[in-house]
Amino acid sequence: MDKLNLKRTTFKITTKCTLKCELCQAFIPYLKEHKDTSLEQCCQILERYFALVDSVGTFSATGGEPFIHPQLALIMQEIFKYKEQITGNIDIVTNGTLAISDELLETLAKHKDKARVIISNYGPQLSRKFEELKNKLTQNDILFRVEEYFDEKNLKYGGWIDYRDHSLKHKTEEEIIEQASHCFWRQGRYYEINFGELHPCARSFYRMKEGIIKKDENQFISLIDSKNSIEEDREKLRKIDNLIYLNSCAYCFGNTKNVKRHKPAVQLKT
Ligand code: SF4
Repeated sequence: MDKLNLKRTTFKITTKCTLKCELCQAFIPYLKEHKDTSLEQCCQILERYFALVDSVGTFSATGGEPFIHPQLALIMQEIFKYKEQITGNIDIVTNGTLAISDELLETLAKHKDKARVIISNYGPQLSRKFEELKNKLTQNDILFRVEEYFDEKNLKYGGWIDYRDHSLKHKTEEEIIEQASHCFWRQGRYYEINFGELHPCARSFYRMKEGIIKKDENQFISLIDSKNSIEEDREKLRKIDNLIYLNSCAYCFGNTKNVKRHKPAVQLKT
């Protein structure tokens, strides 16, 4: 049977965040439920995920803001147990608003070969711990990368996309295929684990979760309470990976070259 090698997966360990970005690419301020995934559930999710896939390129812990999670260091220790199956980096993506704990620094320092911290810099007003975080990572010789979302002349990816219009945009199959074929998320196979489910796109997850589109059992994998055998879910994942488009693509302008970019991290008032 063919190997199942995913390019990348983001593990959302919490939907709590310290910021309220209007154009949050994960729709965090718009979710009805904000909670941490417990350590016990994270262990279950990781065990099932790594039983399904043979390997993954980049594996990232994100949120919300992952530094909020009180058991982040323990969750990272669990993730590092699977490092033989992770061919690239094991990332934590943070918004630079919170200090890094000694326990987490120690955990990352033990796994320098794979660990990397991605810091989104939203400027001194929001990313208040940015400098402190950079210094601590440097002192401990831990790899990090800064994504600049502050200097308007040098915005990472040219700014953020507004995904909040969930109306039906592409009606024929031809139009939907055309949309998906130009979308960076679909072509790059960006998976995310959220609320114990593995989805092939964050927009697809959100639209199913909030009832904007129907929940389609063939377009996500349950990692906590699947009734399927490992082989059945591996087969299902293979089919998802080969889908030309997702149901959600009909409701989307996606991440394409010409889509309008906006100023990142503008905060909602309420
Ligand atoms: S078009 Fe939208 S739903 Fe489809 S892969 Fe891209 S972002 Fe996801």
